[in-house]
Amino acid sequence: MEFPYTNKHNVIFLREAERLKSPTRTYAQAIIICPLCHEESTIRDGSALRLARKSCKKCSPKLVAEALTKTVPAYIKYLRNGMVSRCHNPDNKNYSSYGGRGITVCDEWKDPENGVYKLHEALGDRPSDKHSIDRIDNDKGYTQGNCRWATPTQQLANRRTRKGHIRERNNQFEASYKHIHLGNYPTEDLAQTAINGAIRIVEFYEDSK
Ligand SMILES: [Zn+2]
Repeated sequence: MEFPYTNKHNVIFLREAERLKSPTRTYAQAIIICPLCHEESTIRDGSALRLARKSCKKCSPKLVAEALTKTVPAYIKYLRNGMVSRCHNPDNKNYSSYGGRGITVCDEWKDPENGVYKLHEALGDRPSDKHSIDRIDNDKGYTQGNCRWATPTQQLANRRTRKGHIRERNNQFEASYKHIHLGNYPTEDLAQTAINGAIRIVEFYEDSK
């Protein structure tokens, strides 16, 4: 194969590069132009590698995923493993309260390669070590939109309101109960108060039927 050479993945092998020396052997290297980022870079060369290579090292999806997950704090990995186990491993001691009653982890967060990164991206950093991941609607699974960082007190308040739902959006707290939109509030407490009011009205109505 002569330079320049373009493989079936549109990687252009421009020219030979300086050989890479390890203590035991030397490796052929080539300068390529990556079809994804269009940048030049030096990579290991060889006939099999030349046919298989799809991008530069930086763009290789596996390497990208690894690089991203390395930036994820350890507690995210720990919390994600816990939720996946509770929901998807029947041997987990808490499975009956989670997977056993239909609570699942969304595919994005369950993904063994990118899950921790996606979870971190969705929830951001934990505000303090007193916070853990709370499901806003306790009957729904671990998905973006149904999860937030909450302290044990907030989680308890959330359980008490059962179907009440608070969603933070543009620094406003949107309250809803039984799919009824109850308005936007400047604080979470006010949104909670609106939900509690709605619950009392609904319960009163249902009691008087
Ligand atoms: Zn690239």
